[in-house]
Amino acid sequence: MSITSYLPIYRRSGIRMVRGEGVQLIDDTGKRYLDFAAGIAVNAFGHCHPHLVDALQQQAGTLWHCSNQFTTPELERFSARLVEASFADSVFFCSSGAEAVEAGIKFMRRYHYETGAPYRHRVITFDRGFHGRTYGGISAGGNDSARTGFGQLLNGFDRALLNDIGTVKELINKNTAGILIEPIQGEGGVQVAELDFLQALRALCDAEGILLMCDEVQCGYGRPGQLFAFERAGITPDIVSSAKGIGNGFPLGATLVTERVGSVLPAGSHGSTYGSNPLAMAVGNAVLDLMLADGLFAHVEAMGNALQDGLKQLQARYPEKIRDVRGVGLMVGLEPTGNARVLATQLLERGLTTSPTVTNVLRLVPPLIIEPSHVTEALGIIEATLKQ
Ligand SMILES: *Cc1c(COP(=O)(O)O)cnc(C)c1O
Repeated sequence: MSITSYLPIYRRSGIRMVRGEGVQLIDDTGKRYLDFAAGIAVNAFGHCHPHLVDALQQQAGTLWHCSNQFTTPELERFSARLVEASFADSVFFCSSGAEAVEAGIKFMRRYHYETGAPYRHRVITFDRGFHGRTYGGISAGGNDSARTGFGQLLNGFDRALLNDIGTVKELINKNTAGILIEPIQGEGGVQVAELDFLQALRALCDAEGILLMCDEVQCGYGRPGQLFAFERAGITPDIVSSAKGIGNGFPLGATLVTERVGSVLPAGSHGSTYGSNPLAMAVGNAVLDLMLADGLFAHVEAMGNALQDGLKQLQARYPEKIRDVRGVGLMVGLEPTGNARVLATQLLERGLTTSPTVTNVLRLVPPLIIEPSHVTEALGIIEATLKQ
């Protein structure tokens, strides 16, 4: 047999991880890694945080699943707290980022159907955007490598350029349902949407009677130093997709909506068997406890600044090795002049995990709970690697 029993569709490193402790991963030889990949911006509170382990263990002995025929105390509590903490008036739960995006796209279209404009079904998306690996997600996404070989994709998406409002305006017509944007592109290489661009999108949506959806599956949930990245622009979207950090590694996604959108969606118009599963809701509540703890967002901002400042100093010292450093909070992109995947492998050998993207940019997306010593340690490993 020339194939592994697990489908070889990922570029795996050959390292076998057996345990996680705080901000470290431990492999089967006992080697420890400082985890600045955090499962691709997922483990916001690191590995095996006692508060999260407790919540999951307790729920595991209480109720796993009962279907959406019923509500549960965990669902009522988590949704109410998310609504209280955010722009949203109501939340749909699912199990992954792609599903959260799919739900948002469907809600956008259904909103117009229910409000007398069924011809509004097209969605404007952005070059280099990433919205998951489902058929809808790759159709919406702006990266050709995710689309290759799958034939005719879904119609209904028009692609504009990030931070270029003219290209958005050009695409708007009577069929446009809304705009879907990552306020900070992750897979696209940590490309940050300018705040006045986000404000212009909101104004455009208002003027045209269409909806603004932010895909915050990666950039949101504390990572930008606020609950959501769009908050930095002082705007209110109509729909937000969330996942990754929201479950800290437990499969959980959420589509948050305002009353305007939520109130027109009829019962039966969408669903998910595992959505609002009590195990996921219990973990979601426990993650939110940590997320809303006093001082976390300021801590993220401080650690993000320290990491970015340190990387910029390295860029000044090794301009022939580092092309750019950018990001917001603890969503940081390091663009090497050489091959980012090769650099990631060298960093891994020295005990630092990072997350390469399809765009030759390394993502540094550590747990939000890293301390200054971890920033120093990571910068030391990066410098040693650049020198080698
Ligand atoms: C990761 C990601 C997704 C897809 O999430 P999955 O949980 O892998 O389905 C969607 N949108 C963005 C912006 C992402 O980063």
